[in-house]
Amino acid sequence: MKNKKVLITGASIAGPTLAYWLHKYGFEVSVAERAAALRLGGQNIDVKGPALEIARKMGLEDRIRDANTTEIGIRFVNTDNKLLAEFPKDSALSMTQDLEILRGDLVNILYEHSRKDVLYLFDDYITQVQESPHDISVTFNSGKTETYDLVISAEGIGSSTRKLVFGEETEFKFLGLYTAYLTIEKAATDSRWARWCNARGGIVYMLRPDNYGSTRASVTFLADEKDYKSRSVAEQKQVLIERMRGTGWESDRLINEITRTQDLYFDKVSQVKSPRWSKGRIALIGDAAYCATPIAGKGTDLAMSGAYILAGELSIAETYQEAFDSYEKKMRPYVEKSQKLPPGVPRIVYPTSRLGLFLLNSLFTVAGSSPVKSIISLFGKGKKKEEVDIDLPDYLQINRNRF
Ligand SMILES: Cc1cc2nc3c(=O)[nH]c(=O)nc-3n(C[C@H](O)[C@H](O)[C@H](O)COP(=O)(O)OP(=O)(O)OC[C@H]3O[C@@H](n4cnc5c(N)ncnc54)[C@H](O)[C@@H]3O)c2cc1C
Repeated sequence: MKNKKVLITGASIAGPTLAYWLHKYGFEVSVAERAAALRLGGQNIDVKGPALEIARKMGLEDRIRDANTTEIGIRFVNTDNKLLAEFPKDSALSMTQDLEILRGDLVNILYEHSRKDVLYLFDDYITQVQESPHDISVTFNSGKTETYDLVISAEGIGSSTRKLVFGEETEFKFLGLYTAYLTIEKAATDSRWARWCNARGGIVYMLRPDNYGSTRASVTFLADEKDYKSRSVAEQKQVLIERMRGTGWESDRLINEITRTQDLYFDKVSQVKSPRWSKGRIALIGDAAYCATPIAGKGTDLAMSGAYILAGELSIAETYQEAFDSYEKKMRPYVEKSQKLPPGVPRIVYPTSRLGLFLLNSLFTVAGSSPVKSIISLFGKGKKKEEVDIDLPDYLQINRNRF
């Protein structure tokens, strides 16, 4: 293919993975990230199945293993912090997996692995695109203009380039939940066990250890869909705090941390359903194209396999149109399967009444009960760790055989 100058937008998981592979196939790659530096927040993610297979192909398995979060299992507790059930790492029902890493550590590993071969531009994003039959001209927020052959958006669920190019055609399936992630100081109640607590009013707190001596917190609650995203961070914090006040357990500690954090990620839990993943010289990958939500436990698998397949198809196709088509053909069935959630999920694990909470907490003590199974399935766990449920062709070999 002649069109080899590519701009990728978004330096998280999908963007740097795509950059690595495109460079390997001889493309000239730049990555523009909207934030001033890598965004390293978030909780544990597990590298399993296709993500692990791709990490191996990239020579990263050992580095990922070395960055293990040290979590030894999960404990379900009630609002008095009384233990209801625990599942150690080696239990079939545990949420903690073999290769568990902080999202930020994986982002950093992927960035470090590609930065010497790829031009990273921070603190910038696309404000305008203009396609011609030969190329695509991009105007950045910084005022700079540059011409590329292709642009790939890996900007996550709220992608502004997707909106600019595809308009309103993307649909969002709101799952009735909002979630917040933040890093907090470790307290005496924290240990190497993750703790899950269902509190009053359809709210779930989860605290997990990290490998830096701090604790990673998530707050997830049931709510009607509102446009919190367009509000300031201070206003988003207020929404969260109001929702958490008086819910018990360690909510006062968390409210205090939210008040002073600089590291808040707060968003609605929605799946992204895009009728097409490319238009002209622009394509979408990762959450920007097909976010399945953290609830599906597939974000890393989808982001890395989409990046791997798109890069591979671009390396073997005669034209970018052909590559975009086969990328979509190969990925779409996997995306559709990954976005399917079991009936009743996620609402089943977010009771709003005291009775519902009591019943759920009683069921937690029964290892094989449906809420426990639902929670484990919510995060895609309890599945065979090595299962690679999408075909990942050996594009390097295919390229070697062709030339
Ligand atoms: C700060 C943060 C914390 C997260 N924490 C968790 C977690 O704890 N658990 C979990 O399961 N998932 C978490 N996620 C989501 C998870 O990373 C994704 O579901 C998945 O890994 C797919 O990654 P992605 O690369 O497609 O998109 P994302 O990880 O969403 O990354 C998108 C990147 O694009 C950048 N960006 C956005 N708009 C633009 C633009 N216009 N131009 C250039 N760059 C842009 C963003 O700053 C970000 O770096 C988090 C995401 C972020 C950004």
